[in-house]
Amino acid sequence: MREHELDVPAPAKWGEGLVAVAQGESVRVDVRLESVHEGILASGEVVTKYSGICSRCLTDIAEPLQVEFQELFAYPGVEAADFEVQDNHVDLETLVRDAIVLSLPFQPVCQPDCPGLDPVTGERLTDDAGAESSEPADPRWAALQDFTPDVPRSRGEIQTEES
Ligand SMILES: [Zn+2]
Repeated sequence: MREHELDVPAPAKWGEGLVAVAQGESVRVDVRLESVHEGILASGEVVTKYSGICSRCLTDIAEPLQVEFQELFAYPGVEAADFEVQDNHVDLETLVRDAIVLSLPFQPVCQPDCPGLDPVTGERLTDDAGAESSEPADPRWAALQDFTPDVPRSRGEIQTEES
């Protein structure tokens, strides 16, 4: 069993969506290589950073990314395998790239409750504006909305009776 720590630049832009790991971005790979009967089992963890734009408000974002991987590199000629040991080496690039690309968020956001863009002006809504605007009512309370206008009126009637 061998363990390696690699720190390599991404050889190309990884990812085709709103966010991607940029070419040259530092990619840290902690990998453990274990000899097993069929070949070499590579498992480990990748730490890098992705960047791009928020899917709601289009602001530039950059977030850390951490993903684990595990794959068997089979000795050649035994059985058809996705990954094979070649010249006593395992090439981790495809494995690492696939692990990263598959874990990139499909709809990345700058923050979990990003208010997005104003549908009228197209401006980015700030947190304050998002809080002030009347949020759509929880659908579970929708049936009660018909009753709410009566509440202040009935209070008023009670007060008139008292006065
Ligand atoms: Zn956003």
